[in-house]
Amino acid sequence: MRLAKFPRVALGHLPTPLEPMDRLSEHLGGPRLWVKRDDCTGLSSGGNKTRKLEYLMADALKQGADTIITQGATQSNHARQTAAAAAKLGLACHILLEDRTGSNDASYNMSGNVLLDRLHGASVSKRSGGADMNAEMGAVAETLRDQGKTPYIVPGGGSNETGALGYVNCARELVEQSNAMGLKIDALVHATGSSGTQAGLVAGLAAIESDIHLLGIGVRAPQEKQEAMVYDLAVRTLAHLGSTSKIARSDVRANCSYVGAGYGIPTEGMVNALKLLAEIEGLLFDPVYSGKGLDGLIDLTRKGHFDGMENVVFLHTGGSAALFGYPDTFDLPGYVTD
Ligand SMILES: *Cc1c(COP(=O)(O)O)cnc(C)c1O
Repeated sequence: MRLAKFPRVALGHLPTPLEPMDRLSEHLGGPRLWVKRDDCTGLSSGGNKTRKLEYLMADALKQGADTIITQGATQSNHARQTAAAAAKLGLACHILLEDRTGSNDASYNMSGNVLLDRLHGASVSKRSGGADMNAEMGAVAETLRDQGKTPYIVPGGGSNETGALGYVNCARELVEQSNAMGLKIDALVHATGSSGTQAGLVAGLAAIESDIHLLGIGVRAPQEKQEAMVYDLAVRTLAHLGSTSKIARSDVRANCSYVGAGYGIPTEGMVNALKLLAEIEGLLFDPVYSGKGLDGLIDLTRKGHFDGMENVVFLHTGGSAALFGYPDTFDLPGYVTD
């Protein structure tokens, strides 16, 4: 594996910590559960897109770009981290937000990540749900080119073979970190959406011949589609790396039973999981991705999916800024009188 040959800009606080979740482990009574804190990458409140952007932004700079274009759902964590990365590197940023949930809620549409996109100086425009977002980004790029600008398109979620290198790097980092701690990781679990995180991990673990059991918890697509997306990008990422390692289709596992009614729509399991971790571990997750991933981790642990394993790591992909876009989801008590 020759990861070092790819240009990279330092954007994240790496390595991120690997910490035990002892109260959760005790609560569930299964294997020892750990959290890999990619919510602590540091860039504009952190998250998994930071690692991808280290490679994507380096590619943009190499190509002489002056403007970044990207897209996501209204409460996109990817858009927020891209806006921050562009700000740090002195590039303009144009964000297209797709209305995937149809929510008219003011907080959902203007607070949380949308507030931060605008604070970072990005220009933000909306598209209706189901729009061809790649075509929309292409049209914006065309307009900018006509104005003499040099745009660079970062795909949704930063998920292509360049962005996935960030999670090849994370696989290497996690294995080195756990080895240094004398810890043998049996399984790694995380929320999977646009597929770059899992594809990078699959490729990275294959390249270093690690046998960690990797499981994505889907947040949007059904299982077959999700696994096919991840497999396809993992194969392309490994080829991009120039690795001769092989990926078996069976190395790509996604459980898509925790999506609920759809992308970005809260579920009872997510609400319970998110509240539990906030209360017993002091950790914050998000309603769209990491909260549903956590629901999967907790439910599968209870059902014995990890029985016989000693150490299971949850990759915390971040996203808690989105909580402020969902203020009424958690049915919390008001002030008490004392
Ligand atoms: C984007 C995102 C994911 C999913 O990562 P993909 O690489 O898109 O599969 C998970 N968690 C959070 C918080 C995210 O923002």
